[in-house]
Amino acid sequence: MAAKRILIVEDEKPIRDMIAFGLRRAGYQVSEAEDCREARAQIVDLRPDLMLVDWMLPDMSGLELTRSLKRVKDTREIPVIMLTAKAEEQDKVGALEGGADDYVTKPFSPRELQARIQAVLRRAIPVGSADVVEVNGLRLDDSSHRVSSGDQEISLGPTEYRLLHFFMTHPERVFSRGQLLDRVWGGNSYVEERTVDVHIRRLRKALEPYSLESLVQTVRGSGYRFSTRET
Ligand code: CA
Repeated sequence: MAAKRILIVEDEKPIRDMIAFGLRRAGYQVSEAEDCREARAQIVDLRPDLMLVDWMLPDMSGLELTRSLKRVKDTREIPVIMLTAKAEEQDKVGALEGGADDYVTKPFSPRELQARIQAVLRRAIPVGSADVVEVNGLRLDDSSHRVSSGDQEISLGPTEYRLLHFFMTHPERVFSRGQLLDRVWGGNSYVEERTVDVHIRRLRKALEPYSLESLVQTVRGSGYRFSTRET
């Protein structure tokens, strides 16, 4: 198996060197950027499998960089782990709402970082590999834009379709309304969070005749999750 490529975006050289050293030793192919501008160039050249992004960067915050990557189709699926010196709960939520897949608070041990990287890589879906996804008999074919259960086609509106596609390719994870807005609606700030609830209701209603509506689960106080496990 080819070595996974990791891009480190961190302006403090000693920290960057320390992380790079540990990751290279663990068998990753590592590249480094000290600001967002350089990171963007590296993303094009390297096509990283995962990015580590520091929160405080000289030209733009790591959070803004992450947000902008998650808005673009080509870079949306690159998992991002934010490195943050901020330990406050609010900042963690901010990182996740901004589209980061996880965050690590400084100072962290190389071992902790590697465990997080492995977990995030495990649940990432390689780009282009999810043309057809099937869960519990619910089948979504992205090349023909068809959703079906057995031989019956399920008719969905465009937003419900995008929502279902996102859920099916990111199963068993809780997403806040803000995250769903970012990932499914492309971070359109004019859309309100309760819009998400409306489309979730429509999606469940469309799945109901096939008894598949329980796949779309409400996680109280957090958001929504697509799961085959009982709540
Ligand atoms: Ca920094």
